[in-house]
Amino acid sequence: MSKLTDINYVKGVLSRHGFTFSKALGQNFLVNPAVCPKMASLCGADSRTGVIEIGPGAGVLTNELAQISCKVAAVELDKRLLPVLAETLAAHDNVKVINDDAMKLNFHQLIQDEFAGMEVVICANLPYYITSPILMRLLEERLPVKAITVMVQKEAADRICAEPGTRASGAISAAVRYYCVPEQLFKVSAGSFLPAPKVDSAVIRLNILKEPPVQAADERLFFKVVRAAFLQRRKTLSNSLSAGLSLPKAAVGEILASAGIPANARAEEMTMQQFADITAAVQALS
Ligand code: SAM
Repeated sequence: MSKLTDINYVKGVLSRHGFTFSKALGQNFLVNPAVCPKMASLCGADSRTGVIEIGPGAGVLTNELAQISCKVAAVELDKRLLPVLAETLAAHDNVKVINDDAMKLNFHQLIQDEFAGMEVVICANLPYYITSPILMRLLEERLPVKAITVMVQKEAADRICAEPGTRASGAISAAVRYYCVPEQLFKVSAGSFLPAPKVDSAVIRLNILKEPPVQAADERLFFKVVRAAFLQRRKTLSNSLSAGLSLPKAAVGEILASAGIPANARAEEMTMQQFADITAAVQALS
């Protein structure tokens, strides 16, 4: 078992380096010994696969990933963790720690530089304050990766993995399904982290699709329609689209009618195909 999940060892290393947790950077480190080996074994990495990790923290997941994959590139924003990682990952010569912001880093360049010719997966215990933007960034950039396995808050996991057309779905459910098939792998209790967050978490895997599941007339418009549809969750689709797309009610009525969708439908009832049909109807009208 890795020393890095021994809470006393981690506390000792961090305090020797004068490290204090930053809430703003979403720093909740995993100290449950069962979680990282399980995450690493389910992320699709093997001895021929490269792994990108976002936010290695003290290196607990990195350590597991380094043992099963051929190379790990770990992107950490917090400079204060660099000496910590140099110590905790000293035994691995296949780990490169990159001090950068995952919201700004050029991931295509990183893959080209570090993983040329390799299959690549992403595996991370994400900082929760940027879960959705980071996931959408990774997906929208169409990175040449096989899967993205991430720990997120349980509620976010439910929303991300919800099937469009079901009550639990939201804009992110439809956006995510355009690029991948998401699945919930396992739940992780709040007590598995140091410090413990207020809510439980879950590990999800996004299996990247080669082709989108529907043909959108215009991809950007498709995402604009999805966002607009969920803008006012409690209202009808017709009201939300009118507000979100700045279109008169009558025009939205025409759009919905030509897409064969009832005027009183709600965004959460829409399937991916129906969002694509609405997009085509919006485009035809403009
Ligand atoms: N992987 C570690 C673990 O499981 O114990 C730490 C996970 S902690 C939830 C999130 C990590 O992401 C922290 O190390 C934090 O400093 C880092 N982080 C926060 N914002 C980041 C960003 N924009 N880019 C890269 N890393 C970031």
